[in-house]
Amino acid sequence: MSRDRRTAQKLADFWKGEVLLDHPMSGFSTLRVGGPADAVVFPKTRRELSNLISGLQLNFVPFWVIGRGSNILIPDDGLPGVAIVLGPDFSGIEIVRSERSCQYVRVEAGCSLSRLVGWCVEHCLTGLEFTGGIPGSVGGAVATNAGAWGKEVQELVSSVTLMDGRGELFSRDREEMFFSYRHCDLGRSLGYPGGEAAMVLVVDSVFRLEMGERKKIEYMCRQVTRRRRESQPQGCASAGSFFKNPGDRAAGRLIEEAGLKGLSVGGAQVSTFHANFIVNTGNATARDIFDLMRLIQEKVWNRSGIMLEPEVRILGTDASSGRALSGNSGVSGKLQCGVPGIDGNNPLPEAAVN
Ligand SMILES: Cc1cc2nc3c(=O)[nH]c(=O)nc-3n(C[C@H](O)[C@H](O)[C@H](O)COP(=O)(O)OP(=O)(O)OC[C@H]3O[C@@H](n4cnc5c(N)ncnc54)[C@H](O)[C@@H]3O)c2cc1C
Repeated sequence: MSRDRRTAQKLADFWKGEVLLDHPMSGFSTLRVGGPADAVVFPKTRRELSNLISGLQLNFVPFWVIGRGSNILIPDDGLPGVAIVLGPDFSGIEIVRSERSCQYVRVEAGCSLSRLVGWCVEHCLTGLEFTGGIPGSVGGAVATNAGAWGKEVQELVSSVTLMDGRGELFSRDREEMFFSYRHCDLGRSLGYPGGEAAMVLVVDSVFRLEMGERKKIEYMCRQVTRRRRESQPQGCASAGSFFKNPGDRAAGRLIEEAGLKGLSVGGAQVSTFHANFIVNTGNATARDIFDLMRLIQEKVWNRSGIMLEPEVRILGTDASSGRALSGNSGVSGKLQCGVPGIDGNNPLPEAAVN
């Protein structure tokens, strides 16, 4: 029996919602690459999500949490197991507490940052303007501690509701979360020793937002949009900045100094506009993007002695080399996969380890 059929059979025991079987993941990634997941599902409620997660864990079916897919690279071989997409059905926004000058706003993980920013404008709440134009979800933004223009999402987070691998919910204050540059160690927030971060889901986040003047907030949003338009390639498939900035150096500058703007592997290209963007010019494969990433790492290393670490999270395994592809789970060499026992023990190629 094929892998996707086996997954479908197991899934049928505990999942009654919509499911896409053996479905290409390219449509769920802004890089527009990625082979099929055995199954793609779209939970609509916390209860559905909880039953799903516990069922998957009990049946040893791997799972992957996908928000807006704007910070992931999915292999051409696709993903074993189930891709859980938290989207519009998981995007409620509500004020949970009001103080004189601020409001505490609970936002579900599937809510897009752009919808949240629009909502904040409507409600004259300031703080999140810097996220305008980041094409991610709230869950993805918390999991990656998204940031721009010197600000990070963690600065606004008051608390986060997490779901563990048994489908149980936990609330954690910001102080109990482990945020770092473009990363949040969700597993550690629940006391996991390490390596199980991807088993933990962000279900919602409460943001503490100051009351502000609508005109000023709108102005800030316009400024942010303008700066993005001026500094980033528009209208092409990418995952934003591909590499983290090492220390106080800009990854884009290091790549540019290595003379790599415009460098291509297959359909993947270093943007001629912003060197830290890898763009899919139309027919790239995930392999092209991965190989270009490796080439950039090698050339920047040779020139500057700095090993660039991907900001984009690389999910799954690479069947052609048999190696685990790991992104920035914070645990080098671990797969970003939500099932124990599948731990990406294969070492990463030297060049990809920071
Ligand atoms: C044009 C462009 C510009 C960008 N600009 C910026 C920028 O300025 N700053 C910045 O920080 N990023 C930027 N990004 C990257 C990306 O938009 C952010 O990282 C975003 O927060 C990712 O959210 P997502 O929903 O798309 O996550 P996804 O790409 O779907 O997932 C990213 C990671 O988060 C995990 N994840 C997603 N949802 C959850 C959840 N609910 N619970 C647990 N884990 C979860 C996934 O498993 C995966 O490991 C940009 C991307 C693009 C394409």
